[in-house]
Amino acid sequence: MSKELAANARLNKQICQKCGATNPPKAKRCRKCHSKDLRRKAKDPRR
Ligand SMILES: [Zn+2]
Repeated sequence: MSKELAANARLNKQICQKCGATNPPKAKRCRKCHSKDLRRKAKDPRR
């Protein structure tokens, strides 16, 4: 259960491709470097 929540939380965040900062899903620009290169953390479950 908590695993699902964690996974959801991760999917709901965006990672700046430039500086690697985490941004809220609604953000259109990185709050740190203002880059538009935001990406949702893709399906990357720990193997
Ligand atoms: Zn950034």
